[in-house]
Amino acid sequence: MSFLSQTLARVKPSPTIAITNRARELAAEGRDIISLSAGEPDFDTPAHIREAAKAAIDAGHTRYTAVDGIPELKKAICAKFKRENGLDYTPAQVTVGTGGKQILYNALMATLNPGDEVIIPAPYWVSYPDMVLLAGGTPVAVETEMQNGYRLTPEQLEAAITDKTKWVILNSPSNPTGAGYTREHLQGLADVLLRHPDVWVLADDIYEHLVFDDFKFWTIAQVEPKLKDRVLTMNGVSKAYAMTGWRIGYGAAPEILIKAMSKLQSQSTSNPSSISQYAALAALEGPQDYIAESRAVFERRRNLVVAGLRDCPGITCPKPEGAFYVYPSIHHLIGKTSAGGTLIADDEAFATALLNETGVAVVFGAAFGLSPCFRISYATSDEILADACARIKGFCEGLK
Ligand code: PLP
Repeated sequence: MSFLSQTLARVKPSPTIAITNRARELAAEGRDIISLSAGEPDFDTPAHIREAAKAAIDAGHTRYTAVDGIPELKKAICAKFKRENGLDYTPAQVTVGTGGKQILYNALMATLNPGDEVIIPAPYWVSYPDMVLLAGGTPVAVETEMQNGYRLTPEQLEAAITDKTKWVILNSPSNPTGAGYTREHLQGLADVLLRHPDVWVLADDIYEHLVFDDFKFWTIAQVEPKLKDRVLTMNGVSKAYAMTGWRIGYGAAPEILIKAMSKLQSQSTSNPSSISQYAALAALEGPQDYIAESRAVFERRRNLVVAGLRDCPGITCPKPEGAFYVYPSIHHLIGKTSAGGTLIADDEAFATALLNETGVAVVFGAAFGLSPCFRISYATSDEILADACARIKGFCEGLK
């Protein structure tokens, strides 16, 4: 009898681990490595948020709290949804968890039965399909196209829905492409969903505040109020306020789902960290200057990276609307051989050769379900990004 569970066997080990390990090995050998694989802002959490956490400790907020969030934070989350998204939720329709990740996990665990399908536009955040598998469901990846801005189209959504579809996951702006859905794009998808009343929508809005140029963020419950009673609007403080380590995410949905998620959380982690909840409260209620400041920095970096990659022979790089990722295609480079003698048979070979020969670590597209591409996270300094782009250009120029 196997010691490890069959549930675990359904989940693949992360394909990004190999490249991360290789980058570590090379760095340990003294090689000059630039890692563009991290999915987190490189800034410190704003000072007033850190101070609020210290004050929470001194005020004795160091004990268990209500399982799915302190009332003050739930109220602040309702105010945030009203202020920024025009959405009316009551505290009973809100849940707080250990990161947006736990919110997604709770929702899938609380709702999926064997055979239930979850539509996931590809390329996708690596955790979606594996969470669906852990919850016993079936992920249904739908490949988006670069010429559609890596956005799921209404036709693709319609074609993917079956009588087993329980959820569709929307992530705008997206990890890994940075693609953002406009109000019109979301309305197109909403029109399809209105014809399928049993399908719920999981709106992962974690990159809401990282949008550039004149792109305006919308979330589907706001675009189509008739869907609101089957939408889970998920968000968190990780990316908006440089708080990845604090582990606070939240979601708003009809009470039936929120109660089920809370029940699950009560028997697994209990409340998210009390101190982090007070920090998140300060983030949502305090000065919001950090958001505009970080947005300006990320926009500048996006422009730098897109221009740098467009200068690389054989790379096609779309200009994303948001987040801090670009997802260029290497379609034209497949079949070539690197200066170091590696055949670029697929995007994994590209990423491996790029790392070995130039020291730049990127994540290959197969990890996100759409090839041949790679993802760069530009959450690092302009100097490092310029250096990385120059190395990638040299690598591409050396391909025969
Ligand atoms: N959703 C997406 C698309 C992400 O990229 C991430 C983190 O990388 C998360 C959700 C979860 O973020 P957290 O658990 O830190 O709130």
